[in-house]
Amino acid sequence: MVKQPFPSKRAPAFADVPDEKWNNWRWQLSNRINTPEEFEKVFPLTDSERKALSAAHLFRVDITPYFISLIDPDDPNDPIRKQVVPTEIEMTPFTAMMEDSLAEDRHSPVPGLVHRYPDRVLMLVTTQCASYCRYCTRSRIVGDPLATFSRSEFEMQIEYIKRTPQIRDVLLSGGDPLVLAPKILEEILGRLREIPHIEILRIGSRVPVFLPMRITDELTDILQKYHPMWLNIHVNHSNEITAELAEACDRLSRAGIPLGNQAVLLAGINDNVHVQRQLVHDLVRMRVRPYYLYQCDLVEGAGHFRTPVAKGIEIIEGLRGHTSGYAVPVFIVDAPGGGGKIPVGPNYLLSMSDHKIILRNFEGFITTYEEPVDYKPENAAQPTLKRPEPGQSGISGLLDGEHLFIKPEKFDTVHDRGGFQHRLKDDSKWTPLGIGSGDEEEKDSDQE
Ligand SMILES: *Cc1c(COP(=O)(O)O)cnc(C)c1O
Repeated sequence: MVKQPFPSKRAPAFADVPDEKWNNWRWQLSNRINTPEEFEKVFPLTDSERKALSAAHLFRVDITPYFISLIDPDDPNDPIRKQVVPTEIEMTPFTAMMEDSLAEDRHSPVPGLVHRYPDRVLMLVTTQCASYCRYCTRSRIVGDPLATFSRSEFEMQIEYIKRTPQIRDVLLSGGDPLVLAPKILEEILGRLREIPHIEILRIGSRVPVFLPMRITDELTDILQKYHPMWLNIHVNHSNEITAELAEACDRLSRAGIPLGNQAVLLAGINDNVHVQRQLVHDLVRMRVRPYYLYQCDLVEGAGHFRTPVAKGIEIIEGLRGHTSGYAVPVFIVDAPGGGGKIPVGPNYLLSMSDHKIILRNFEGFITTYEEPVDYKPENAAQPTLKRPEPGQSGISGLLDGEHLFIKPEKFDTVHDRGGFQHRLKDDSKWTPLGIGSGDEEEKDSDQE
């Protein structure tokens, strides 16, 4: 195995812990830091942190000794400290704050299963994590041991997936699936693998970051029995990248699991192109592909972590072209209200005319691309999805000719202006006459 070029750290407060305890994930979990007294042994708390830690109804605090050791004890603005140590500002409400900003619960056909996209589901398998991020998008349920999912809910999730053949991809999240007892995790993976239409399994986990010693050979032996298996980790700043994390990633990669990273854009932590460039470079050195960079969600406790969306666009501007394409994540705003992930980024297309487009590159070089004048699409009539589900084809459905338009609910009522059906309002006017299209018989479904 390659020697990892990343540091390894242990706070002086844990200097006396024997290595076999330190490297044991059970010891790390049962010795997590959460009281002001325990914190003060590692670094002096600020007034704001101390007040937050003694507040009622605070989102759960727990930090593994391994992860807290990565904090610079002399820097109250340390980028790791801000991710996991609460401050008073967390308790300040802000405009647009929501309990469930992504409307996940609304999109759950059964508890703990979010089915938002046509072909894949998000399966919440636990509410527990190895440590807790202050900006957690799921703080409404995460951390609460009583909110965790029951056996019968798990059976309902499996049943739903079984009877929904368009699902080809199941993303396990939570909470953190890798804190589950190996037996339980193995049962979940096994039950999903029995379902013939499930093509890929995915895990979203911060365990490699909070608790890298959990990524044992026993664990990767379990995971690799259920291939094809993909995994996204969650690193926000290069200070989280240690020899231990690099070794955990190496184990997962050697088990054949492609690794990605999902970062969250956080004010005062990584809202800077230089910090982000260092982060993505360190990630690709560990064979972790930056996947998404998220705009911070509008959830309770996270208001002060938000940046303008422009900051994310500026960061992508500073990455694309300037560094390896493998190192550039997609910047995502997860739509409040439940629209799902929306990619945003710089514009490279400046203008276009018939058969000519004008593009700019990352340096500001402007060029023209001549398009063919005699292009004929080869397979225009083929359906694009293997198991299409009506009603969710979006803009792609407009391009495919499945619909002529998409309109907001109540659009027709508003535009009727209280009028009545009269001879000039005949609906058939809005059906394409289909002249020359070869499918004169077809009527647009929106018109029926
Ligand atoms: C993020 C997410 C997914 C996975 O999205 P990808 O873009 O495929 O990674 C699936 N379902 C839900 C509800 C999600 O929030």
